[in-house]
Amino acid sequence: MSDIKENLNKVRATLPAGVTLLAVSKFHPADMIREAYDAGQRLFGENRPQELKEKYAMLPKDIEWHMIGHLQTNKVKYIAPFVAMIESLDSERLAAAIDKEAAKCGRVIECLLEIHVAREQTKSGWDFVQLEEFVRGGGFKAYPHIRIRGVMGMATFTDDESVIRGDFTRLADCRNRLAPYFGEEFDTISMGMSEDYPIAVECGATEVRIGSTVFGPRVY
Ligand SMILES: *Cc1c(COP(=O)(O)O)cnc(C)c1O
Repeated sequence: MSDIKENLNKVRATLPAGVTLLAVSKFHPADMIREAYDAGQRLFGENRPQELKEKYAMLPKDIEWHMIGHLQTNKVKYIAPFVAMIESLDSERLAAAIDKEAAKCGRVIECLLEIHVAREQTKSGWDFVQLEEFVRGGGFKAYPHIRIRGVMGMATFTDDESVIRGDFTRLADCRNRLAPYFGEEFDTISMGMSEDYPIAVECGATEVRIGSTVFGPRVY
């Protein structure tokens, strides 16, 4: 027996009401996801489109799958028919691709704007200044098949809690500054992973994305 159910319950117990748990199942096999499902979990996050498509086919259809990893425009088609949310919308090109594939499926796909708030150069996401400019210019109005629900981001990988707190605070602030352009449904702040989610919750996260604390270490 694995500890997945126990781990899930422990994490849930630490989350205030109104904070959603996305169980990040990337690199873990379908039977482990099934175990979490049997423990009542319905929201799962994956970061590779093909892997996500395969798991979707194998598992119960009331699972809500969130794409959280960098998405290439030519791979949107693998997940467009079923994905509940794409959290990693990080460019205009990707918005156009998602809109096109969603239209083909007759769907409107919910998305989060991934914003770069970490100090590392490597982490993906919009530069906030450019994003705000694009939003102010009505850029997303061209894409009726995507519905923007909020922001997503990752903090700097560091032991320095004040840096992490600064990153999360800035991300929450980005959400507040963009909210007037989108209205009430722009309500999601997805931030916080296994190592830093308690800080994210303090800074206003409405969704935390937790992998290893639920499923154990990933084997790559
Ligand atoms: C892998 C991943 C997570 C979960 O990471 P853990 O440290 O295992 O909790 C969260 N968000 C994103 C974007 C990820 O790629």
